[in-house]
Amino acid sequence: MSIEYMSMVKPTRILEIDPSNLRIDYLVEAARVIKYGGLVIFPTETVYGLGADAMNNLAVRKIFEAKGRPLDNPLIIHISDIDQLNILSDNVKEEVPHLAEKFWPGPLTIILYKSEKVPREVCAGLETVAVRMPAHPVALKLIELSETPIAAPSANPAGRPSPTSGEHVKREMMGKVDVIIDSGETLYGVESTIIDITRDPPVLLRPGALPVEEIEKTIKKKVVIPEFARGLIEASEAIAPGMKYRHYAPSKPLQVIESSDYSNLQRYSLEVFKYAKRLIDNGFRVAILTSTETIQYYRKVEVLNLGSRKNLFEVARNLYRALRKIDELDIDIAVSEGFEERGLGLTIMNRLRKASGYNIIRI
Ligand code: AMP
Ligand code: MG
Repeated sequence: MSIEYMSMVKPTRILEIDPSNLRIDYLVEAARVIKYGGLVIFPTETVYGLGADAMNNLAVRKIFEAKGRPLDNPLIIHISDIDQLNILSDNVKEEVPHLAEKFWPGPLTIILYKSEKVPREVCAGLETVAVRMPAHPVALKLIELSETPIAAPSANPAGRPSPTSGEHVKREMMGKVDVIIDSGETLYGVESTIIDITRDPPVLLRPGALPVEEIEKTIKKKVVIPEFARGLIEASEAIAPGMKYRHYAPSKPLQVIESSDYSNLQRYSLEVFKYAKRLIDNGFRVAILTSTETIQYYRKVEVLNLGSRKNLFEVARNLYRALRKIDELDIDIAVSEGFEERGLGLTIMNRLRKASGYNIIRI
């Protein structure tokens, strides 16, 4: 089944849906595809997802095939109604209702003990399941009309940066899925925050669009932030299954130049520039990923502005587009500035460090 399926090119139907004016006829059509075990790419507020009926193991297997995703990398299940939690888990911890009430729908994924009903394929054989309720009208309506939770990883071929626009998915996933719903750009442009509250104290498995400080305030507990969640080392399989696979990587080399102190930005960017200049003098064509505050210090070199350090929401949102741009530009190597690891800065540094393949210099 799998080899035939992979070699098959599917006729992909593109449905353009304006999130502020839902085409219910299109959503009914897409929901029918989910119900019959097909694949639908849909927008969420974080990134685009590649969805199938979470309760249908054959449909779930198709997700892994379409993405080229290793089978031991579990998927997140998306729900539209809090009652669906009781299908997915029969041991919901007391913190969950608090977190759900405060952050759902929204970019928070919670790890729960799984129920018998969840097919083992979704959870890659684990005893736990990852669940979230997305805050996007198209995603919510699609799940509701499908009358089933939808398992969906990011809709990129495995290893690539996550898609943040309909254009990205059309470019990379045509012929691999039944339906692509194009609703333009996503809001956050970076994946959900994943928290494991089956552990005490809770553990951050992946920083994302929701700052971890917000979670701590709500559950009134400190969350453990392991080194791998900062993007400093590979995750160990026992603690964060599947995490070893995420690289968000451009195909060209990326070097991250960090500082422990971003208070003197002029001095910092002169160091970054000195580093880039050395590469240029050695014949490399270089692009620098900068911030609005520092762009002025780079002369006669390609620059990609990620946004203002005072607005990390903007930087996170621009990040994957910039990583994709690295591949399109006529350059050999990209050099990126670092950001302070607070709030969304933690998320940004996790993605940058991993995208660089841990190619990190500290100055
Ligand atoms: P993606 O949807 O591509 O952003 O990837 C989802 C990530 O969620 C996976 O790579 C896993 O690391 C994580 N995940 C999903 N289910 C579980 C689980 N049951 N336990 C721990 N991590 C999980
Ligand atoms: Mg992904």
